[in-house]
Amino acid sequence: MAQSVLIVEDEPMIREAVASYLEKQGCKVFLADNGVDALVIFEREAVTFIILDLMLPDMSGEEICTVIRKKSRVPIIMLTAKTQEEDVLRGLTIGADDYMTKPFSLKELYARMNVILRRSCNDLKPLAEKYSWNDNDLKIDFEQDEIYKNGEPLSLTPIEWKILSAFIRHPKKIFTREELIGLAFEPEFDGYDRVIDTHIKNLRKKVEDDPKKPVYLKTVHGIGYKFGGEKQ
Ligand code: CA
Repeated sequence: MAQSVLIVEDEPMIREAVASYLEKQGCKVFLADNGVDALVIFEREAVTFIILDLMLPDMSGEEICTVIRKKSRVPIIMLTAKTQEEDVLRGLTIGADDYMTKPFSLKELYARMNVILRRSCNDLKPLAEKYSWNDNDLKIDFEQDEIYKNGEPLSLTPIEWKILSAFIRHPKKIFTREELIGLAFEPEFDGYDRVIDTHIKNLRKKVEDDPKKPVYLKTVHGIGYKFGGEKQ
């Protein structure tokens, strides 16, 4: 499973155990032991899954979840103590996808992650919003799933939508091919990194004036891709 998982947990033993288990399953992990660090990492990295402890030294898991849900539908599993059942229910109403009560089995955590990923892999777009770039040259309406180039509607494949969504959610980030695969493909995908290049090439034909001189989907040599364009 090529996921980038942010583990937010102040108990080192749990944090390390979850991290090493997920790494063995092929995940990339980011670790935070407090809320502020967690939000910094979330802004900076292309996180595709969050494991979030409810009780942290500086912020509650619920607060973090609320902040994240304002900008992203990234799947979130909350970790809670047995005595926090009420908080858990509140957590789920503010946008966590599931919760696990400590102590929990790592195997079960992983199984639940996969269930959520299967359920949500068509749902990685930003929250319903409209975007436009370069004086309305490119416009996207995520509420209606519509995209326009120079006023003309475009037709994107589901994978192209996911790739574009990943760029738009992290406008300053340079994505590696591996990260784009983690964001745009089914968790079971086990293909060659370069497959992403084909999708980028096809996307460029649709959104760029000149696909050989891209202004939106830019190549960053030796790393991968990043998004350009002047946002309105
Ligand atoms: Ca805790």
